[in-house]
Amino acid sequence: MPQRAPDSISIKLPDGRRLDATNETPGPVEGGELELVEVLIARRFDACPICGDPAATEREHVPPGSLGGKVMTWTCNRCNNGFGSRVEVDLLDWYEGAVTTWFASETVRGKRKTGRLLVRWTTNGEYVLLPAGKSDEIYAEILAAGNVEMEYDTPEHRRWSIALLKCVYLALCIKFGVIKGEWADQVRADLLAARDAPSRADVPPSKIAQRLHVWRGFAPEPITSDPVVTGIIHGPDGPMEGVLLAGRLFVSWSPANDNQAVTPAETGRRVTTLRVGKPMSSVVTAVMPEPRTPTG
Ligand SMILES: [Zn+2]
Repeated sequence: MPQRAPDSISIKLPDGRRLDATNETPGPVEGGELELVEVLIARRFDACPICGDPAATEREHVPPGSLGGKVMTWTCNRCNNGFGSRVEVDLLDWYEGAVTTWFASETVRGKRKTGRLLVRWTTNGEYVLLPAGKSDEIYAEILAAGNVEMEYDTPEHRRWSIALLKCVYLALCIKFGVIKGEWADQVRADLLAARDAPSRADVPPSKIAQRLHVWRGFAPEPITSDPVVTGIIHGPDGPMEGVLLAGRLFVSWSPANDNQAVTPAETGRRVTTLRVGKPMSSVVTAVMPEPRTPTG
């Protein structure tokens, strides 16, 4: 399992200054106190809880393993594998504050796709881009040009909200049994439409998914090590029931309010020009939270 990217970093610059940068709040955060109610334990059903296929043989992590989920139920092969590359990559990018970028400059021909870059922010509102994997030497050449054109794709709400809807739906099934009714039928239809989309670009939006209320905690340690815990947020608009995922992400399953506006998702690629100063070599002195060995 890949190690989760840190929420904050501290880099000591050669001139002695310290560059502190943290993950931006990726979603609306409202004041409210979280009350944990019930730790859910893994539950197996006679058939796949998403599509009803009797061959529910695959171990299903809730939330996805990349976010710190554990095996909480069993789904069929298609439901187990169909969401990862379509919607769950966007969920991880949103959660970790990562973007996919292309760099172009006069020094190198054409556009170069970089790996994932983590976007972190300083208290002055400046952003810091950190390569999440190994970086290619070509970037040093591109960046040396001074003016660099950067194109970037940000994780799409249309997709990551469906990945969260899947978590919430499975949590509800684990708690109450495979749920029935119009709402549940619509959720299953939306999930299957995403699973069966020919590609990520074709994943249709889900109104139910886009209306989920999401809170994301940035404390260095998760609130609990249990992957799925039901809870209640006592906020300014009254209590909202939902589920705490991986100790950091609370998603409300309170009935959707039809009047609630769905924020139009920012989609498509954006372009910006970076003015690159003289390169400074630097040493990363601290990473918060401390990197940990993945536990499975
Ligand atoms: Zn299935």
